[in-house]
Amino acid sequence: MALERDWDEAHLKALEGCRHCGAPAEAAHILGRKYDKPRRPGLKGLWVNPLHIVPLCPGLHRRYDDHEYDILPLLTFEEQAEAVRLVGIVAAYRRITSTRGEPDGEEDLKASTEDPAGSEWGAYGPF
Ligand SMILES: [Zn+2]
Repeated sequence: MALERDWDEAHLKALEGCRHCGAPAEAAHILGRKYDKPRRPGLKGLWVNPLHIVPLCPGLHRRYDDHEYDILPLLTFEEQAEAVRLVGIVAAYRRITSTRGEPDGEEDLKASTEDPAGSEWGAYGPF
Protein backbone atom coordinates (compact mmCIF):
# COMPACT_ATOMS: atom_id res chain seq x y z
CA MET A 1 0.00 0.00 0.00
CA ALA A 2 1.26 3.43 -0.85
CA LEU A 3 2.28 5.66 2.01
CA GLU A 4 -0.01 8.53 2.83
CA ARG A 5 1.13 11.85 1.50
CA ASP A 6 0.61 15.12 3.28
CA TRP A 7 -0.11 17.60 0.48
CA ASP A 8 -1.50 20.38 2.68
CA GLU A 9 1.30 22.92 2.29
CA ALA A 10 1.89 22.01 -1.35
CA HIS A 11 -1.78 22.57 -2.16
CA LEU A 12 -1.77 25.88 -0.32
CA LYS A 13 1.18 26.94 -2.44
CA ALA A 14 -0.65 25.89 -5.61
CA LEU A 15 -3.42 28.33 -4.70
CA GLU A 16 -0.99 31.10 -5.71
CA GLY A 17 -1.82 30.17 -9.32
CA CYS A 18 0.37 29.13 -12.21
CA ARG A 19 3.80 30.76 -12.01
CA HIS A 20 3.71 31.31 -15.74
CA CYS A 21 0.18 32.45 -16.53
CA GLY A 22 -1.66 32.86 -13.23
CA ALA A 23 -4.36 30.31 -14.09
CA PRO A 24 -5.58 27.88 -11.40
CA ALA A 25 -2.65 25.64 -10.70
CA GLU A 26 -1.67 22.17 -9.65
CA ALA A 27 1.20 21.33 -7.31
CA ALA A 28 3.88 20.12 -9.73
CA HIS A 29 6.85 18.26 -8.26
CA ILE A 30 10.06 19.93 -9.39
CA LEU A 31 12.19 16.75 -9.15
CA GLY A 32 9.59 14.04 -8.57
CA ARG A 33 7.65 12.29 -5.86
CA LYS A 34 10.53 10.09 -4.87
CA TYR A 35 12.00 13.01 -2.91
CA ASP A 36 8.94 13.19 -0.66
CA LYS A 37 10.12 12.07 2.77
CA PRO A 38 8.56 11.97 6.24
CA ARG A 39 8.46 15.44 7.71
CA ARG A 40 10.74 14.26 10.50
CA PRO A 41 12.74 11.05 10.86
CA GLY A 42 10.67 8.38 12.50
CA LEU A 43 7.32 9.73 11.38
CA LYS A 44 5.10 7.65 9.13
CA GLY A 45 3.73 9.01 5.90
CA LEU A 46 5.33 11.29 3.36
CA TRP A 47 5.36 15.06 3.35
CA VAL A 48 5.21 17.05 0.14
CA ASN A 49 7.66 19.82 1.02
CA PRO A 50 6.37 23.03 -0.55
CA LEU A 51 9.95 23.84 -1.60
CA HIS A 52 9.72 20.79 -3.90
CA ILE A 53 6.64 22.17 -5.62
CA VAL A 54 6.02 24.76 -8.31
CA PRO A 55 2.45 25.85 -9.06
CA LEU A 56 1.70 25.12 -12.73
CA CYS A 57 -1.54 25.12 -14.71
CA PRO A 58 -2.54 21.62 -15.93
CA GLY A 59 -1.18 22.15 -19.45
CA LEU A 60 2.26 23.25 -18.30
CA HIS A 61 2.31 20.60 -15.59
CA ARG A 62 1.81 17.93 -18.25
CA ARG A 63 4.48 19.47 -20.50
CA TYR A 64 6.92 19.62 -17.59
CA ASP A 65 6.23 16.01 -16.62
CA ASP A 66 6.84 15.08 -20.28
CA HIS A 67 10.23 16.88 -20.14
CA GLU A 68 9.07 19.42 -22.69
CA TYR A 69 9.06 22.59 -20.63
CA ASP A 70 11.77 24.62 -18.91
CA ILE A 71 10.67 25.87 -15.49
CA LEU A 72 14.00 27.40 -14.47
CA PRO A 73 12.81 30.98 -15.05
CA LEU A 74 9.79 30.29 -12.84
CA LEU A 75 11.64 29.00 -9.77
CA THR A 76 12.65 31.00 -6.72
CA PHE A 77 16.26 30.84 -5.60
CA GLU A 78 15.12 28.80 -2.59
CA GLU A 79 13.45 26.23 -4.85
CA GLN A 80 16.52 26.06 -7.08
CA ALA A 81 18.83 25.67 -4.07
CA GLU A 82 16.69 22.85 -2.67
CA ALA A 83 16.76 20.99 -6.00
CA VAL A 84 20.55 21.37 -6.17
CA ARG A 85 20.86 20.18 -2.56
CA LEU A 86 18.87 17.05 -3.40
CA VAL A 87 20.47 15.94 -6.67
CA GLY A 88 23.40 18.22 -7.46
CA ILE A 89 23.63 21.05 -9.91
CA VAL A 90 23.92 19.08 -13.16
CA ALA A 91 20.97 16.75 -12.53
CA ALA A 92 18.88 19.61 -11.19
CA TYR A 93 19.65 21.72 -14.26
CA ARG A 94 18.82 18.90 -16.67
CA ARG A 95 15.51 18.09 -15.01
CA ILE A 96 14.38 21.64 -14.42
CA THR A 97 15.21 22.79 -17.93
CA SER A 98 14.03 19.51 -19.52
CA THR A 99 17.46 19.17 -21.12
CA ARG A 100 18.70 15.70 -21.99
CA GLY A 101 22.38 14.88 -22.08
CA GLU A 102 24.83 17.73 -21.96
CA PRO A 103 23.42 21.13 -21.22
CA ASP A 104 22.98 22.33 -24.81
CA GLY A 105 25.28 25.19 -24.10
CA GLU A 106 27.91 24.72 -26.72
CA GLU A 107 25.99 26.21 -29.63
CA ASP A 108 24.47 28.89 -27.44
CA LEU A 109 27.80 29.70 -25.89
CA LYS A 110 29.38 30.19 -29.30
CA ALA A 111 26.49 32.32 -30.39
CA SER A 112 26.59 34.42 -27.26
CA THR A 113 30.33 35.05 -27.40
CA GLU A 114 30.17 36.19 -30.99
CA ASP A 115 29.27 39.80 -30.88
CA PRO A 116 26.61 40.36 -33.52
CA ALA A 117 27.33 44.07 -33.50
CA GLY A 118 31.01 43.39 -33.97
CA SER A 119 32.39 46.21 -31.91
CA GLU A 120 30.36 46.71 -28.76
CA TRP A 121 32.64 44.53 -26.65
CA GLY A 122 35.81 45.24 -28.54
CA ALA A 123 37.01 47.77 -26.02
CA TYR A 124 36.87 45.16 -23.26
CA GLY A 125 38.47 42.29 -25.11
CA PRO A 126 40.19 40.01 -25.60
CA PHE A 127 38.53 37.63 -23.13
ZN1 LIG B 1 0.03 28.36 -16.77
